[in-house]
Amino acid sequence: MPNDLIKADCGVIGAGLAGAAVALELADAGKKVALFIKNKLTEDCSSYLLAGGLTAVKIPNFTNDSFDLHVKETLAAGKGLNDEKIVKYCAEHFYSDVIEWLIKRGIKFDLQDGEFDLHREGGHSKNRIFHIKDTTGKTIMETLRNLIINHPNITIYENHMVIDLITKDKLQEKKSGNDICFGFYVYDITNDYVKTVECEATFVATGGLGKTFLYTSNPDVATGDGFAMCYRRGLPLANMEFIQFHPTVFYDPSATNETERRFLLTEALRGAGAILKLSMNSSEDFVLKYDPMGSKATRDVVSRAEDIEMRKNGLSHVWLDCTKIDKERLKNDFKNSYEFCKKHGYDITKEPVPVVYAEHYSNGGVLVGKNSETEINGCYVLGETSYTGLHGATRLASNSGPECILFAELAAKHFLSQTKSPESIKIPLWRTGSAKESRDKITVGYYWEVVRRTMNALCGMSRSKERLVAALDIIKSLEKSIKEYYWSYKVTKDFLEVRNIVEVAHVIIESALLREESRACHFREDFPKENNKYLNLTLVQKLNIGS
Ligand SMILES: Cc1cc2nc3c(=O)[nH]c(=O)nc-3n(C[C@H](O)[C@H](O)[C@H](O)COP(=O)(O)OP(=O)(O)OC[C@H]3O[C@@H](n4cnc5c(N)ncnc54)[C@H](O)[C@@H]3O)c2cc1C
Repeated sequence: MPNDLIKADCGVIGAGLAGAAVALELADAGKKVALFIKNKLTEDCSSYLLAGGLTAVKIPNFTNDSFDLHVKETLAAGKGLNDEKIVKYCAEHFYSDVIEWLIKRGIKFDLQDGEFDLHREGGHSKNRIFHIKDTTGKTIMETLRNLIINHPNITIYENHMVIDLITKDKLQEKKSGNDICFGFYVYDITNDYVKTVECEATFVATGGLGKTFLYTSNPDVATGDGFAMCYRRGLPLANMEFIQFHPTVFYDPSATNETERRFLLTEALRGAGAILKLSMNSSEDFVLKYDPMGSKATRDVVSRAEDIEMRKNGLSHVWLDCTKIDKERLKNDFKNSYEFCKKHGYDITKEPVPVVYAEHYSNGGVLVGKNSETEINGCYVLGETSYTGLHGATRLASNSGPECILFAELAAKHFLSQTKSPESIKIPLWRTGSAKESRDKITVGYYWEVVRRTMNALCGMSRSKERLVAALDIIKSLEKSIKEYYWSYKVTKDFLEVRNIVEVAHVIIESALLREESRACHFREDFPKENNKYLNLTLVQKLNIGS
């Protein structure tokens, strides 16, 4: 087959904020970069949906804001699990190395009276969110896209799904203690065959894992591919039990379009007076039973209240009632939500709209060092797929976008300062062997359905040993079937994705079982209190990488 072997200095997997930034840094330094994207460059990623903005403290300022205050608030959100040194480093560098990095590349953040127009979000005591209207991610990704497509050192491979990393230990089927990554296998979705990529360094920046759950605000590409491929090569995954849920995603099970299924009704609606109700005609804010702030309480509290009530009453969703908010304000300040709901048959100025809590962000990820490097030489992990220590148990709003760019720069710098490893190996091309054609969408669709429903029902907002053990049994039996399927049939995108979400689901459940306490977004009904015995990271690692 043509182009079976692709050679480059660096292989970058994913082109959200993290992948795009690292690709540009490496290419600007003269490295030949091969950039792989599962779907299309630019819009198929969480970074494109990033709406609120990016946190950074600019010194001097007129609001008495300081790096120390940003550190304090990040640590408060992280509930004792952050790495304080990393938090401090981020607070001190988000403006100089992220906001200025973007400005240099043509981004114009909103200004008011000649100064940056900074927003404030939940958990922040100061206005420090840089934004471009409410389309920050879209504007940034479109600008970076132009730089990427015009860069002579970047070759773009759209519709290419990376399957697995090629490492020395995997090839030799034993742990050496000094593993090296030589590249990866990638499935060319359009032409339906697998290519081999050989490169000096691999940068995994594949984003989140939202599709592991039934409801998510994430785009379709968020099937946890990077988490799964690193786990399969023996890298430790940290704090994977800390899944952040968003309480108000539009509920419409009949929507065929995934974009419609994941529409977020902004939190600002609850801030402006919208309440959550159990039935359409009720006038009661049911969250008041759980928190004196009612529907204005934090994401974690509101989502958990929804989950408890939905379980108790057998509901598939709850209702968000915005009718107490001034009609004109709804139409103007919340234009996006108003128009979306109107299009789907709900006039939010007159009636409540069905919503459900949904997976929003993975606080945990592949454990990395201070330059996003991993235990495998030549393998870096970036963005939402990584665990840098910044977020701890829950990220402070809008800290995750800047983290993607800062660590992309650090990873590129680290790689560029390394001397080339003398060790090389002839890497085997992908072999299809006797694998049969597979077009059985029903079996694969069933696997998808089971894992996502299992995670929502048994490992969602409220967890218990009983439910987690039940979830693990289901996931283990799926893993067995999927493994057999993997060796018997030719790969397809759908199948590779479900293989990944099952693997990631397994790690999340194991992590949730290990943490016998409740902290931030991890809630155990059988251990409802925080317990300081659990101030360490939860680490889950595959020991037998030969299997
Ligand atoms: C609706 C929404 C709003 C948000 N708002 C904010 C906000 O206001 N502020 C903030 O800081 N954060 C926000 N976040 C979080 C933030 O957007 C993400 O954490 C961040 O953008 C993640 O960037 P990333 O580069 O890691 O991944 P992504 O941007 O998701 O990019 C992942 C890339 O990997 C590619 N990919 C995936 N798997 C493969 C594979 N196997 N092979 C090849 N390519 C692959 C995808 O195609 C994509 O290009 C929001 C998230 C969502 C979903």
